[in-house]
Amino acid sequence: MATRQVAVLGATGSIGGSTLDVIARHPDRFRASVLAANRDSAGLAALCVRFRPDLAIVADPAMEADLARRLAAAGVRCEVASGADAVTAAASGPLCDTVVAAIVGAAGLDSTLAAARAGKRLLLANKESIVMAGALLLQALREGGGDLIPIDSEHNAIFQCLPGGRPDLGRAGVRRIILTASGGPFRGRTRAELGKITPDEACAHPKWSMGRKISVDSATLMNKGLEVIEAHHLFAAPVDAIDVVVHPQSLVHSLVDYVDGSVLAQLGNPDMRTAIACALAWPERIEAGVAPLDLAAHARLDFEKPDTDTFRCLALAFAALCEGGDATAILNAANEVAVDAFLAGTLPFLGIAEIVERVLAELPAQPVVDVQTLVARDDEARRAARGVLNRAYC
Ligand code: NAD
Ligand code: MG
Repeated sequence: MATRQVAVLGATGSIGGSTLDVIARHPDRFRASVLAANRDSAGLAALCVRFRPDLAIVADPAMEADLARRLAAAGVRCEVASGADAVTAAASGPLCDTVVAAIVGAAGLDSTLAAARAGKRLLLANKESIVMAGALLLQALREGGGDLIPIDSEHNAIFQCLPGGRPDLGRAGVRRIILTASGGPFRGRTRAELGKITPDEACAHPKWSMGRKISVDSATLMNKGLEVIEAHHLFAAPVDAIDVVVHPQSLVHSLVDYVDGSVLAQLGNPDMRTAIACALAWPERIEAGVAPLDLAAHARLDFEKPDTDTFRCLALAFAALCEGGDATAILNAANEVAVDAFLAGTLPFLGIAEIVERVLAELPAQPVVDVQTLVARDDEARRAARGVLNRAYC
């Protein structure tokens, strides 16, 4: 068995850390050959000391010298690079056969596309790239001939519940895909109760420990909206064959409903290492460091309908998906700007949905032509979102 050479893009983040934990448990199977992060040179250098990659990259060129200095001081001999282009080149280059796309936001698009085009095994956490450019990413995958295995827990669950991973749903007898949502930290609250939410409250997820952006997305239910769009592309599922159900215990990670009435689900403790280990070793199964599920101790599994009047982001994502074209890229860009502003304290929690809604209304969808046009539209949506932000909140 050849050792898989794994590029971990977003190595200093939450998914990056869980990935490196699984890799460290299986040195005979996996090696972290490339580690990339945004600008945390100290964090990245510490990972290099432990994992000894061939190449370490900071996206921010201003941090390259600091990274090089830290590595030299620690006696680590690995190549050092910086800039977004270096991340993209590494994703498609000879130092890896597997790419864990765990950069947060649209910043992950280029490297994700490059890995797909180069035929790498692509482990996709960076849902924003498929929300922005679903059709282009799938085309790149077909051209590259590699596989994509989702590590978003819901999509990984669906992948596991389908025969052969990503089959034609009609031929496989699938009636519906059912995504579970924890409901986030504010499940059950009314709009009036959400007026004064702080970033720290929004980031305190009851079940999952994650980066701040996805934590806010989980609190607004935009995360589930992005995941509906992700499921549509990954599994070629029509919009009306995707349902969302709130399941506060976060033990059932998603389900597939078949035409004969069978509903298959994947369960497990809420720990991303399960999905990551599944994707790294697929079709084999390996130990992930996750505690066995004690069903009797949990005692109950609850399910309820999502409240899309209070958590409007989920409804907005469904609407953007139905609108088609580049509407989901506009939704994603507006959401990234709004979440940044919320985290910076310049936008109230309920303002996130408002900004996304206004930008979607301001910029009617256009057909997706190519990546360049899409990136220009992403820019346009960000400008529009900042405009709304300045007019309405500053
Ligand atoms: P995080 O904020 O903890 O980590 C983000 C990582 O991306 C960091 O290593 C950061 O240095 C890097 N990064 C940011 N901007 C970059 C840039 N311009 N160039 C290169 N690197 C950059 O985020 P996270 O929670 O690990 O989430 C990462 C992605 O995985 C997101 O798209 C998120 O939606 C998805 N995801 C996360 C979880 C989870 O449990 N955390 C679950 C499912 C999906
Ligand atoms: Mg998820």
